[in-house]
Amino acid sequence: MPKPDLAAEQHAIANMDWDALEASVAECRRCKLCQTRTKTVFGTGDRQAELLFVGEGPGQDEDRQGEPFVGRAGQLLNKMLAAVGLTREQVYIANIVKCRPPGNRNPEPDEASACRPYLERQIALIQPKLIVSLGAVSANNLLGNTEAVGRLRGKRHYYQPGNGTAPIPLLVTYHPSYYLRSPAEKAKGWQDLQMIFKALSKSTPFKAEAP
Ligand code: URA
Ligand code: SF4
Repeated sequence: MPKPDLAAEQHAIANMDWDALEASVAECRRCKLCQTRTKTVFGTGDRQAELLFVGEGPGQDEDRQGEPFVGRAGQLLNKMLAAVGLTREQVYIANIVKCRPPGNRNPEPDEASACRPYLERQIALIQPKLIVSLGAVSANNLLGNTEAVGRLRGKRHYYQPGNGTAPIPLLVTYHPSYYLRSPAEKAKGWQDLQMIFKALSKSTPFKAEAP
């Protein structure tokens, strides 16, 4: 359970509009990551997007620039989106935590849960048709499990919003940094993107090769 002041704040966050939410994140001190961050990384893209991508947390480039997925992993994500005819501006991109974990370690459970109300409010405001978890940290936090991506991808899951509204379909794929480390696996990313497109009931654009 969050401490009383965190819980009160959580209630306030759940009712904020975009401006208040963004301002609140910019000055947030709900967890220890506030001590080491340069900039908070709120999220970017279309606030009415059908498709929401959720990564893990800011890396070094994101921490400097205040925008998610702008480093090498972000460039690959842009390419993957382009391969299915989408731009960053047409989707929404956010992370489990909005401040960089030192040395790019995984966010700790207390950090993820302190930050959760912001993402929950973003999801409530966006009302995406589909959430795509990029990597295990995102998937495990949003689904409340500890399964590996290899077991989660290729299946439809559901994210259950904390406010009790209807579950939102969620697909899992590897984090783009995994494809950077293991380029041979990129075909899997391509399969997952096709599935994402089908889930949005758009026709799958023709592309002969994996991105
Ligand atoms: N990795 C993430 O998970 N998120 C970012 O914003 C950048 C890299
Ligand atoms: Fe606040 Fe989230 Fe940053 Fe922690 S990671 S300080 S909860 S914005």
